Amino acid sequence: MTNNPTQNLKTAVRDVLDFPKKGIVFKDITPILADGDLFRQAVDWLAELHRGEKLDAVVGIDARGFIFAGAVACALGIGFIPVRKKGKLPFETQSVAYDLEYGKGELEIHVDALRGQKRVAIVDDLLATGGTALAAAKLIEKIGGKVSGVDFVIELGFLKGRDRLNGYRVTSAIVY
Ligand code: AMP
Repeated sequence: MTNNPTQNLKTAVRDVLDFPKKGIVFKDITPILADGDLFRQAVDWLAELHRGEKLDAVVGIDARGFIFAGAVACALGIGFIPVRKKGKLPFETQSVAYDLEYGKGELEIHVDALRGQKRVAIVDDLLATGGTALAAAKLIEKIGGKVSGVDFVIELGFLKGRDRLNGYRVTSAIVY
C-alpha cells in the first residue's frame, strides 16, 4: 500500500475480460470494497471533493454507485438519493431513457427526492460512455435540482464519456 490513494485503488481494480459481453473489459471494484482501508480511501477521496462546499445530498446510481454514494453521503453528513433502474422505486417517479456501453436502459428518481434541497453531487463507480450519468443529471434537473459535480472512482477515458457530460464538473479518482 502506497500513500497515494488513487494508485492504491488502481492497483486493486480487477479486469474481467468478456463480461457481461464479449469484447467488454469489465472493471471489477469488489477488491476495493473487500479491503476496509482501500474502501475508506475511495470514500475519503470522493468526499474530499465536496468538503467546504454547500452540498445538500449525494445521488447514487443503481447499483454499484449506491455503495460509494451512500458512504460518501454519510462521510459528509448529508442525505443520499437513489437513482434506480426502471420499476424499482415505489413512489411516483420521473424517468429518463439512456444508452449504455452494452445496451439500453431507463433510470428513475422519486419526484419528491430533493425534499426542497437543491445542490447535489452524483457519484457512480465508473464512467464509460457517460450515458448513465447524463441520464441521472437530467433526472435531477427534471425535479428541480442542481448538479454540483459528477464523481467517479474509475473513468474509461478512451470512451470520451467526459465529453458527453460537457457542462458538468466531472472528476475521477482513476483514469484508464
Ligand atoms: P456509461 O453509461 O456507458 O457511462 O456506463 C456506466 C455504467 O455502466 C456504470 O454504472 C458502470 O457501473 C457500468 N459499466 C460500463 N462499462 C463498464 C465496464 N467496462 N466495467 C465496469 N462497469 C461498467
